[in-house]
Amino acid sequence: MRYVSTRGDAPDLGFSDVLLAGLATDGGLYVPDRWPTLTHQNGQNGQDGQTRRSTAATYAERAVEVMLPFVEPDIDEVTLSHLCSEAYANFRHPAVAPLVQIDHRQWVQELFHGPTLAFKDIALQLVGKLFDHVLAARGDRVTIVGATSGDTGSAAIDGVSGCDNVDIVILYPLGRTSDVQRKQMTTVDAPNVHTVAVEGTFDDCQDLVKAMFNDVDFRRRNQLSAVNSINWARVMAQTVYYVTASETFAQPATFSVPTGNFGNVLAGWIAREMGAPIRDFIISSNSNDILTRFVNDNDMTARAVVPTVSPSMDIQVSSNFERLLFEMNGRAGGMTAEQLTRFRAVGRLDIETDQREQYLAGSFRAACFDDATTVTEIRRVFDASGYVLDPHSATATAAARMLSSRRDHDGPVITLATAHPAKFPDAVAEAVGRRPDLPEHLADLFEREERTHTAPNDLAAVQQLVEQLTR
Ligand SMILES: *Cc1c(COP(=O)(O)O)cnc(C)c1O
Repeated sequence: MRYVSTRGDAPDLGFSDVLLAGLATDGGLYVPDRWPTLTHQNGQNGQDGQTRRSTAATYAERAVEVMLPFVEPDIDEVTLSHLCSEAYANFRHPAVAPLVQIDHRQWVQELFHGPTLAFKDIALQLVGKLFDHVLAARGDRVTIVGATSGDTGSAAIDGVSGCDNVDIVILYPLGRTSDVQRKQMTTVDAPNVHTVAVEGTFDDCQDLVKAMFNDVDFRRRNQLSAVNSINWARVMAQTVYYVTASETFAQPATFSVPTGNFGNVLAGWIAREMGAPIRDFIISSNSNDILTRFVNDNDMTARAVVPTVSPSMDIQVSSNFERLLFEMNGRAGGMTAEQLTRFRAVGRLDIETDQREQYLAGSFRAACFDDATTVTEIRRVFDASGYVLDPHSATATAAARMLSSRRDHDGPVITLATAHPAKFPDAVAEAVGRRPDLPEHLADLFEREERTHTAPNDLAAVQQLVEQLTR
């Protein structure tokens, strides 16, 4: 598989180069030069002579069948099998991403059984293994730097802890993460993992990371790399659970997806392009509602970010939307680049009516909910079924209930549960009257020793610390 940039002005690359590059040199995101079709089907024999019956017995085996076309020829089937079985061995549920029924036509797909209790583990456990494999083959080494306000940092750290060819340095704002989130990062005892509490805000941390990447000399000297949500391999890994869930049902499924950067819902759209039996998608947001306004009113105007009880969706510019925009533009990179430049300049994106008709109508619906409604939804689902949702996932069950009942179809509706409720104990306790317990493997989290460093909000000081830590 070859990959092209969404802005049309960067060299085509193979999978390994795309993995390590993250962003393309023209500022675009990499996408495969064509969408492959699923080569194996579950439960039925292929009728077109091209598809074979899936023999996968586990999530990891199905993941290999789904992802192989994306990584060949750089990575072969035996190697991919090995990496997937290692990545998904760390999950606490044998099905990795199990389905739980909560109402007549409503299911929850639990994506939080990984080591850090958020769905980002599903991609980052594999991405860590992929990085280590590609770097070892090249005799190379990188330093991943990133900024986090919580979830991404711990999932990235866990994904690469113990990798021989990767150092990771994660910046977080001192005193501004939850205790669970901080401890999940600072108690990882691995020589290649480093955390830095910056005396500043999350935005300061992000600015420091950007400045380190923009310092070309520093970037080269330290072989800087990133695993943020625009990395193609993360989107690729997320297509798999859409395939496994939708294949469970006799009728095409609707997915309701709590959305921030658009990476998760984009992965679903790709799974459908590949032939997974998916009907459509519901996008849910909190009060940061840019995607809801876009889908419902053609209004993509960036506004200030407001903090909510679902902090991992407190995002106003959904970076992965660029990949869908490229498709909407008939894969014209120049046009995509132009639209995004204009968006940056005037803060507003305008899409032609027929593009909206072709790509959005019939595929995406959207709804947003404020904090009070989100907490009420956690309580409602708990009272009705005994099931405890986290606040991110609750926006999506609320959206599923609001939108799918108005449609005259009776297929399954699957809400993606993106975090374990114990990660957001305050909102959950407010809703159901008790704090959810941490799963067993984290029960002693608060007794574990923290190892971290502190730095002023100053580029030179942080750069010096990064070099000292990774020497
Ligand atoms: C990251 C995250 C999201 C948003 O995912 P996107 O891919 O950015 O849309 C939703 N819920 C939780 C718990 C997350 O950690």
